[in-house]
Amino acid sequence: MLIDCHTHRLPTDPTTALLSCNMTDPLPPASAVYLSVGIHPWWLTKDNLTAQQEWVRTRLTDQRVIALGETGLDKRCPTPFPLQEQAFRWMIACSEAHRLPLIIHNVKATAELIALRQHSRARQPWIIHGFRGKKELGQSLLRQGCYLSFGEHYATDTLAAMPTGRWLLETDDSTASIHRLLQRAATIRKQSENQLEEELAQTVGRLFFRL
Ligand SMILES: [Zn+2]
Repeated sequence: MLIDCHTHRLPTDPTTALLSCNMTDPLPPASAVYLSVGIHPWWLTKDNLTAQQEWVRTRLTDQRVIALGETGLDKRCPTPFPLQEQAFRWMIACSEAHRLPLIIHNVKATAELIALRQHSRARQPWIIHGFRGKKELGQSLLRQGCYLSFGEHYATDTLAAMPTGRWLLETDDSTASIHRLLQRAATIRKQSENQLEEELAQTVGRLFFRL
């Protein structure tokens, strides 16, 4: 059952994870069951933008691709911000055209992200991955129709306050297992692990499989 919505390493049971890939990774392993593909701001240059777009386009024919990303905006990385915005706008258009949810990397660019969501009139779900912000910041993203994904490090009171169905769990590049993250989240939310796993599976089903 897919519950790890964003990882860069394939777990022992590949059916539990959505593997995120970009052009600079080796090709997705044959054993991966679910993939997301995108242009990450860290690996973006003026010279490789076209090649990265072409790479994403080619991957879209792979039936295992159920989401786009990770992609997004990062004010702390050296890639020029206007170039990041250009690539991100292209990813938004791609997400809308192919009706695929977008997994988003956001560092200090929430205002720009919200403005782009509004101006692009994007309808597809945006999943803000690795969310570590406060409750209020989370609420403002939820109001825009975004979902939040929590990894190994986050503000526990933000997770405790999340409405059911609007959040997910991820391992990203951490070595913690998704099961350990699930146990911890269940404790924080005062729920049983089974109940939480069922809830997350329903959210995943709605977002990625239109169930
Ligand atoms: Zn990541």
